[in-house]
Amino acid sequence: MNYDYIIVGSGLASIMFAEQLRLHNKSFVVISNRSQQASVVASGLYNPVVLKRFTATWNAAAHLESAIPKYVQLEQLLGHKLDHVLPIHRVFNSVKEQNNWFLACDNPVLTNFLNPEIIPNTNSAVKAPFGFGAVNFTGRIDTQLLIESYREFLLKRNQYIEETFEYIDVKDNREGVEYRTLKARKIVFTEGFGVHKNPYFKYLPLEGTKGELITIHAPTLKLVVILKSSIFVIPMGEDRYLVGSTYEWTDKTNEPTQKSKIELIEKLERLIGCDYEIVDQRAGIRPTVVDRRPLVGQHPSHKNMHVLNGLGTRGVLVAPSMAKALYDSIEKGASLPAEIDISRFVAVFS
Ligand SMILES: Cc1cc2nc3c(=O)[nH]c(=O)nc-3n(C[C@H](O)[C@H](O)[C@H](O)COP(=O)(O)OP(=O)(O)OC[C@H]3O[C@@H](n4cnc5c(N)ncnc54)[C@H](O)[C@@H]3O)c2cc1C
Repeated sequence: MNYDYIIVGSGLASIMFAEQLRLHNKSFVVISNRSQQASVVASGLYNPVVLKRFTATWNAAAHLESAIPKYVQLEQLLGHKLDHVLPIHRVFNSVKEQNNWFLACDNPVLTNFLNPEIIPNTNSAVKAPFGFGAVNFTGRIDTQLLIESYREFLLKRNQYIEETFEYIDVKDNREGVEYRTLKARKIVFTEGFGVHKNPYFKYLPLEGTKGELITIHAPTLKLVVILKSSIFVIPMGEDRYLVGSTYEWTDKTNEPTQKSKIELIEKLERLIGCDYEIVDQRAGIRPTVVDRRPLVGQHPSHKNMHVLNGLGTRGVLVAPSMAKALYDSIEKGASLPAEIDISRFVAVFS
């Protein structure tokens, strides 16, 4: 079978690149297993501000501008509500933090994103004596529903193969690539942390940061905004809230742990004072990179092989523009910005 592209992986990176192909009438097939699940377990928040330090995230405005219309387009394509627009309320811990917030509001890069008013806490189930600051242009993408429904969409069109991609079976020649019975002009690898098994791209410095979340049922919490203290508390409907997440750099498994559960409970109980029950716990590996920038581009010697990875902690916001940058570089000869181009790393093959 001949295609323009084979895509390996079915997370956010894969979907956003597949959408570029679909919109440009390129044929493609996706091959994926479920070995990595960052996109499935993610809280799905989009938020243009680093709320620990009150700074803007990398290229926040540009990423927002390209991301939100993409999710709206996907909602129409898949027939599901994916984008839940919700304000984030940053909990202040002191008067000093309130003052820092006011200073940040005057920063021209942040003015549009931060609301200069201090919002008093009126919810007796929440411990926030210094009130909150609200962030604009925030919300949650239901990434689990997106991943599952996009997979269904591709399956119906015979464009999805559920299996582990065996790297030994791929052949690269001048005209394109061959994988078992499939032929394509190009192959794009989007395996998240799974790239460590990819002999062509495992030289890239993708570290991986494990994250865990719990879901609680808290009938008297009655939150209608996302709360951010040392953790996020995100309303999911029906009195359920997603609480997370943790950061762990040594454990590279997708298994939930007791240690993270305890950490999340401690942080949660500093923030809320009502009854709750834990109903779920999940874990995944964020594809984080040493220099905190995505990994995009063409293999240094296999010119038909490309990578889209390193979406880090903010895949929801950055995936759409990174996929477009990769597509434009392959199909339109556009240059990739140096900060995301994998050519910034020297290839070492063993
Ligand atoms: C706990 C947690 C919370 C997060 N919260 C947020 C958040 O609120 N907002 C945000 O923007 N980001 C968040 N992230 C980060 C976000 O999830 C990632 O940036 C993004 O999902 C990465 O997408 P990806 O497609 O690159 O990788 P993945 O989602 O990991 O997808 C990789 C895909 O490749 C497949 N694969 C790998 N190897 C093979 C192989 N050999 N053969 C076949 N298939 C293969 C995997 O099974 C998977 O389908 C969070 C992550 C975690 C873990």
